[in-house]
Amino acid sequence: MATATAVLPKPLWLLAELTYRCPLHCAFCYNPVDFARHGEELDTGTWRATITAARELGAAQIGFSGGEPLLRGDLEALIAHARQLGFYTNLITSGIGLNVERIERLKTAGLDHIQVSMQDSTRELNDFLTSTRTFELKRNVARLVKAHGYPMVLNCVLHRFNLPHIAQIIDMALELGADYLELANTQYYGWAMLNRDQLMPTAEQLREAEETVNRYRARIGERCRILFVVPDYFEQRPKACMSGWGSVFLGVAPDGAALPCHAARALPGLVLPNVRDMPLRQIWYESKAFNAFRGDGWMREPCRSCDERHTDHGGCRCQAYLLTGNAAEADPVCSKSPHHGRIAQAVEFAIRPTRDDERPIVFRSRQNSLAL
Ligand code: SF4
Ligand code: SF4
Repeated sequence: MATATAVLPKPLWLLAELTYRCPLHCAFCYNPVDFARHGEELDTGTWRATITAARELGAAQIGFSGGEPLLRGDLEALIAHARQLGFYTNLITSGIGLNVERIERLKTAGLDHIQVSMQDSTRELNDFLTSTRTFELKRNVARLVKAHGYPMVLNCVLHRFNLPHIAQIIDMALELGADYLELANTQYYGWAMLNRDQLMPTAEQLREAEETVNRYRARIGERCRILFVVPDYFEQRPKACMSGWGSVFLGVAPDGAALPCHAARALPGLVLPNVRDMPLRQIWYESKAFNAFRGDGWMREPCRSCDERHTDHGGCRCQAYLLTGNAAEADPVCSKSPHHGRIAQAVEFAIRPTRDDERPIVFRSRQNSLAL
């Protein structure tokens, strides 16, 4: 494959999803709905080998996520290994399980960056959306991160329930000393797709939230950088998902399945190679899964002849599949897609005034995962 690999891009970042276990039960969780049916977690040795192989391929950033990565007792050892190889290391955590001893060990291991998720500015909504009592705990973790000299990066997933609290969420971030606040509107995959009707905001909520964010930005300047990501259901063009399939992103799931995109497990017929069975280099360059939507050879109309195809790469393959039943279609978020009307229908259906047929939210849990 010398000729082919010479022209193919290298992975820039590795997302190591260490475990699907998590003490929280978020209604918008991005983990696959069938997470409980996947195989055993990789052991420490296999993770170390995978991290080494990713670095040899050229990856420079590593994210440790899950589930809740703090549930892995070998997290510190894996961080130390990645750091020693020259990776910039990120921990993406709910914060549950982080205490003084643990953060000191993570610091000694060389951890560069921590991102803590908060669900809302109120105890009621935080605890409802996660089906736990973790509000105070998360605030204490945020303070702990700051006290240990890390930049305080808070992430809050937005949806119909907490968009009206946007000013209070920003106030909370400022009170906690956040340096960055990532306000990420829900992406409809995994458990969020199951709960889409309940989570979908109105255009009015989004407009008001964006105005509030802009007011705060003008007032607080560089004290806290606020990132506000508009949900693509309200756009006319799709996001450049993963900056292109098999282009910069390499994910590895807890059971070793290699993922060209976080949500790739949702695509039927896509056989995901496993790091237990195939060298990572071969997975990246040669596997069917990583080549399935690489470049633009797979595109059909309207993407095939579109002059924007190198900008957005036709959007998200998983969203195309979830909304059209065919992963090779243009992402229906695009106004040029013949299926674009499904986006508007989904928004209208979710915000209809009479909601007698509404079913309860399905929280992410092992029991629900096995039942679905
Ligand atoms: S979104 Fe919530 S339930 Fe899912 S992994 Fe993160 S903290 Fe756990
Ligand atoms: S038609 Fe395809 S390539 Fe063109 S803008 Fe829409 S999604 Fe992007």
